[in-house]
Amino acid sequence: MHSVCPKQTTLKAPVSIKGIGVHSALSATLELFPLAANMGIIFERTDLKNNNQIIANITNVVDTSFSTTLGNSHGVTLSTVEHLMAALSACQISNVLVKVSGPEMPIMDGSATAFVDLINTVGIVEQNAPRKIIRILKPLEIKEERRWVRLEPADTFSFKLSVDFGGREGLQPEDHVYDFSTESFTTDISQARSFGFYEDAQKLYAAGLAKGSSLDNAVVIKEGAVMNEDGLRYENEMVRHKILDAMGDFYLTGSLIQGRCVGFNIGHEFNNRLMRNLLADKTTYELVDLAKRPAEEKEVPKKAEAIVAFTSPSKSFFQPLSTTAL
Ligand SMILES: [Zn+2]
Repeated sequence: MHSVCPKQTTLKAPVSIKGIGVHSALSATLELFPLAANMGIIFERTDLKNNNQIIANITNVVDTSFSTTLGNSHGVTLSTVEHLMAALSACQISNVLVKVSGPEMPIMDGSATAFVDLINTVGIVEQNAPRKIIRILKPLEIKEERRWVRLEPADTFSFKLSVDFGGREGLQPEDHVYDFSTESFTTDISQARSFGFYEDAQKLYAAGLAKGSSLDNAVVIKEGAVMNEDGLRYENEMVRHKILDAMGDFYLTGSLIQGRCVGFNIGHEFNNRLMRNLLADKTTYELVDLAKRPAEEKEVPKKAEAIVAFTSPSKSFFQPLSTTAL
């Protein structure tokens, strides 16, 4: 079972890893460094000398067409941040400096496994500052013809997502429920890879895109069959990857969320729009200081019910941190 550390955390020591960018196919080095409390998550392009930092923030998302791309006011961008962000969210890392040697994060195997493993090689450390979470107060929804998403109040942080390929190549719809407080990110979500259709990949290659994309970092579907030699990692790997992406995109708020996300056919653009709408309407959420909660419980008896629900043994969403449960 997961629990959320009431204090902010960072890495115990720097770590690094190498891979290739999925669009450029260029080699990319990723380095993670501990950062002081209240600094948040900061990306830095080491191939550039000036204006090379980009703060991980919902409002700094400048493109969501193939992946989530961050950018700063000087036009410096970094793409495909969502899988690392998902790992940072699952590992509850509040403050970290992320240095990348080019315009794209390394794609690794298309999942978040390498990033979770990287973080676990050094571990995390509690900092002397309280963690704030976003607690959803009332439902928030975005609806379009073929896709919709709703964020609603709940005791924990959970997802219930569905994808429907509209019968393309005979693929069946998939759905999955994941509760961060009771299920393992490493076992249930982290290993789910990016996916795509062979037919679409050919068009991207022809347009000079997705040059680094291959069976090494994506599940590829051709004529309704999985091309990857070892098959799928989960029967519903694609919808699980949608949950992974959403976790990463949501963590660009800088906070874990107490709420349930229910969605159909969502992607990066929807994830970003949902978070922007959430933060733009202060009646939809409150920032809860986890370290202050016991005191609030005494002072404001009316709120105690929600607090107890969030901390009761069966839903011990925030308790002393246990990284082994990840
Ligand atoms: Zn993804």
